[in-house]
Amino acid sequence: ALDWQSMNITVAGLGVSGISAARALVGLGASVTVVDGGSSEAHRERAASLEGEGISVRLADAETLPEGTDLVVTSPGWKPGSPLFRAAAEAGVDVVGDVEIAWRLRGPDAAPWLAITGTNGKTTTTQMLASILAAAGLRTAAVGNIGTPIVDVVQEGDDAYDVLAVELSSYQLHWAPSLRAHSAAVLNLAPDHLDWHGSMEAYAADKGRIYEGNRVACVYNMADKVTEDLVRGADVEEGCRAVGFTLGTPGPSQLGVVEGILVDRAFVEDRHKQAQELAEIADVNPPAPHNIANALAAAALARAFGVPAAAVRDGLRAFRPDAHRIQHVADVDRVAYIDDSKATNTHAAEASLAAYESIVWIAGGLAKGATFDELVAKSAKRLRGVVLFGADRALIREALARHAPEVPVVDLDRTDTGAMLAAVREAARLSEPGDTVLLAPACASMDMFTNYNKRGDAFAEAVRELGAVDG
Ligand code: ADP
Repeated sequence: ALDWQSMNITVAGLGVSGISAARALVGLGASVTVVDGGSSEAHRERAASLEGEGISVRLADAETLPEGTDLVVTSPGWKPGSPLFRAAAEAGVDVVGDVEIAWRLRGPDAAPWLAITGTNGKTTTTQMLASILAAAGLRTAAVGNIGTPIVDVVQEGDDAYDVLAVELSSYQLHWAPSLRAHSAAVLNLAPDHLDWHGSMEAYAADKGRIYEGNRVACVYNMADKVTEDLVRGADVEEGCRAVGFTLGTPGPSQLGVVEGILVDRAFVEDRHKQAQELAEIADVNPPAPHNIANALAAAALARAFGVPAAAVRDGLRAFRPDAHRIQHVADVDRVAYIDDSKATNTHAAEASLAAYESIVWIAGGLAKGATFDELVAKSAKRLRGVVLFGADRALIREALARHAPEVPVVDLDRTDTGAMLAAVREAARLSEPGDTVLLAPACASMDMFTNYNKRGDAFAEAVRELGAVDG
């Protein structure tokens, strides 16, 4: 444990996680300075209120390391190469994130962590896991990259929870060197955020940190070789198992699907234990292939914690996905309208396109350096039509011309918010009864909307208008 009282800590960023870390550290007796490059009215107001709590704030300079700093605490969005962190490295000062602080603040009897990372499906899987743990009667919460800042949760005390379901981003893992989860899962790995990490290798290595020091199970995706390699490369506690999950028939030490039943054979090799039936596909909401994989990963972690099979089923049945994640908005003229605005990269969009048969696809936005050939080639046969909007729509249009030349494409040539209503109307025109109109943009939303939530809300609003006109 650290002696916080004698420390001078610099916190990077005056955002939600920076403020929560600063408050916690001051509460422990450390001297804290929050630094931020901004100096707007809003910054100054926040600074004034923190200074009232004994926290120093330095605005308009995000780069120089304050004199006497013993430890730097990062915030999401700050790149590893940021000048402040370089200055810290040169001065021999450790740089850590909020998860590391939370981990160091835990008492000796604190709740173990079941940790989840991956390019896509983190939030869904973490919430499924929390639902399963709750169904088993355990006191738990879904935390980390979601919900209450993890530093606040840990400070509720060692007695507050039996176990935590912890979603971790690759950024958080990068800055959490001493984290040791009870068990952990990497759901999948596809290129994303490479601008932050610098390379796919660096990104994978950060994700792989989640397995370091695991005590009971390292859960990996048998369809994603990289996740298995990460388990092999990890330094775990003696007796810790590798547990694979698959959409096919599982072998020993694996979870998978047999005739529509989710099956756990992870502990079958213990001889006295039998393969357990966990749940049916219909218990998974929505029962799309990628989401069954999420359910299997959540089940594997819950089982590693000793949760009975019946609680897995009850927890999955009770789970409701967050908004804008393959959310059924309405049926209009026997066409289903699905909002997967959270599909902000090609890997996510590929998963949701794979879940439907005859699709009018609404896509486009900010591509973040992605290419669309693989996505379009894999999905071409399911497409009835495509409606495009947003800044980088030409990239998708060109991929469609190469791999799906026969599919009708409407390029709205628009980046204004009102384009959503036009897109939904065009999609309705292209669709036939039994089809699915799917908003799965494969792009970030910020060229047209504040965030993916607003984009999804605009879609739902447009579908309601359509229904009002037609119905
Ligand atoms: P994250 O927290 O990792 O961003 P979410 O659970 O919020 O993940 O899901 C984000 C999007 O990713 C969903 O809308 C869906 O399109 C897609 N998705 C969810 N799970 C998976 C998965 N296992 N594989 C691929 N895509 C997925």
